[in-house]
Amino acid sequence: MKIILVGSGTSQGVPNIGCKCETCLSDNPKDKRLRASAYVETGGLKILIDTSIDFRQQMLRANISDLDAVLFTHHHVDHILGMDDLRQINQRHRKYIDIYGNKLTLDEIKISFRYALDEELKSYWAVPLVNFHYTENKAFKIRGIEVLPVEVYHGKIKIYGYRIGNLAYITDASKIPDREMEKLEGLDVLILNALRRAPHPTHFNLEQATEIALRLKARKTYFTHITHDMMHDKINSELPENIELGYDGLTIEI
Ligand SMILES: [Zn+2]
Ligand SMILES: [Zn+2]
Ligand SMILES: [Zn+2]
Repeated sequence: MKIILVGSGTSQGVPNIGCKCETCLSDNPKDKRLRASAYVETGGLKILIDTSIDFRQQMLRANISDLDAVLFTHHHVDHILGMDDLRQINQRHRKYIDIYGNKLTLDEIKISFRYALDEELKSYWAVPLVNFHYTENKAFKIRGIEVLPVEVYHGKIKIYGYRIGNLAYITDASKIPDREMEKLEGLDVLILNALRRAPHPTHFNLEQATEIALRLKARKTYFTHITHDMMHDKINSELPENIELGYDGLTIEI
């Protein structure tokens, strides 16, 4: 299995427009964060987790030209709004893309991308063409590959993280119920959101994410969905063993 963290930034990205803080002014490529998303390739299946606002740029940068499926974590715009550019994959490979998510997520995507449901536009392949797969909180298969949703809280709403084999990707969580924590045992790689040092009502901060990572004891944990509050080298050097800050372009093989 190959994983590419194509975006490690929070909803505003890093640098922030107009900001003169040391992270936003940093020359370190690891301090340049596009919006959160990850690419997973396993058993010949090409999966993207979320189509971030930066989707097009991320596909170009990582040299990814084909996808079979998109797993959506939730409907917030930083995670879905690149979906229009799935058209380029539809047209190049003459195929629909299978998309997965919980009911709220897919219902909201249908509202945000209402134009993409227009039958006439669909017939010209002028809109992103997707097959909607409403997914219960239980394991399902995409062409033989098992995907396990992990239902977490993002403030008051329930959203999905996903486990595929010994990889789990969880973003925008602020609470993981105990029954869902059990699904995260024995991981090789955990990618988990850690927003910033200060607490936040709807996202884990660094301290909370570290606490969860230490409980789950994945062989390696990488943090993602990061604001400009966290300068890569500085924060990374302070983290416990086997926990690191993720960064755009991070490539992991399991
Ligand atoms: Zn987000
Ligand atoms: Zn800044
Ligand atoms: Zn969100």
